[in-house]
Amino acid sequence: FELERLGIHESVAQVFPPAELADYLADLPVAVSVIGDDGITACDAVVTLEYREAVLEVDWVHSIQAGVDRFPFDAFEDAGVVLTNSTGIHDRTVGETVAGYLLMFARRLHVHVANQRERRWDRPEWDAAFTLPGSTACVVGTGTLGKGVAETLGALGVDLRGVRRSGDPVPGFDEVYANDRLLEAIADVEFVIVTVPLTDETHHLFDAAAFDAMRDDAYFVNVARGSVVDEPALIDALEADALAGAALDVFEEEPLPESSPLWGMDEVIISPHCAAYTRDYFRDIGDIVRENVDRLETGEAFHNRVV
Ligand code: NDP
Repeated sequence: FELERLGIHESVAQVFPPAELADYLADLPVAVSVIGDDGITACDAVVTLEYREAVLEVDWVHSIQAGVDRFPFDAFEDAGVVLTNSTGIHDRTVGETVAGYLLMFARRLHVHVANQRERRWDRPEWDAAFTLPGSTACVVGTGTLGKGVAETLGALGVDLRGVRRSGDPVPGFDEVYANDRLLEAIADVEFVIVTVPLTDETHHLFDAAAFDAMRDDAYFVNVARGSVVDEPALIDALEADALAGAALDVFEEEPLPESSPLWGMDEVIISPHCAAYTRDYFRDIGDIVRENVDRLETGEAFHNRVV
């Protein structure tokens, strides 16, 4: 198809100002503009965070997220619309966020921040704080996120175990298990970190049986998608002290409802689905879009094509 008009949908404003990306791409040989819902069908291609039915009328849609679970693949297929995603750019951001969670738990920093709000000088119990070297993290999903997590945690002395479908080795991981051995892989580690896409296969992958398989003193981290976890089962495990704590960036319902018991738990760290945020986000997206505009011109296959 001919690419003449590229729209930046206003929903990307949840992650960066749309005009920053439009400026960054201004030198492309196509017209780039910021659009609302009513501008979608006038474009040949749309860069977006959210799904709208109108995008089925354009030729190419680029998701500014790696996770495209909210996009109806069959409808894209039927309409002949290309869908590309943004995997490949979130390794360092999410890796640093996860390293931050682990350091908070190990060095008790979340407790100090909570105490500071109350103007309370309260040292932890003598045996509460620990250091990371020698501990093991099991990273479930060894793609961009998983590798980024392995790189930052590896530098902090954490031993890394990975889980993926094939079980084939991945650089940065001491050992890799196939996903049919998940319960075994998470049974004896101090940290379980979830970095898989949400698919039919991974929906509620972390259920009561998974939390039961984990050590009582293990921490659970989810930076993937909320529905990879059976959230009530996680809450039960935390309330029963069957886990030491959890760091959660994603939830079954976002924003996390005010009524969720997770908000009130001392050993739960909550971030509002922003593990990958960086002031450079629009540049990282712009580079993927630019690459694909170039490829379209030369007739090469799209980078990060999903449908
Ligand atoms: P990638 O495609 O690079 O990696 C996905 C990995 O998951 C692969 O290693 C793949 O394994 C593995 N995998 C897929 N299905 C299964 C399964 N059933 N069991 C075990 N492993 C499986 O994706 P990214 O790393 O870029 O992103 C992963 C997800 O993280 C996204 O889909 C998104 O939902 C979420 N995300 C969240 C962000 C946030 O802000 N919190 C930011 C970015 C992404 P295999 O090698 O066998 O194919």
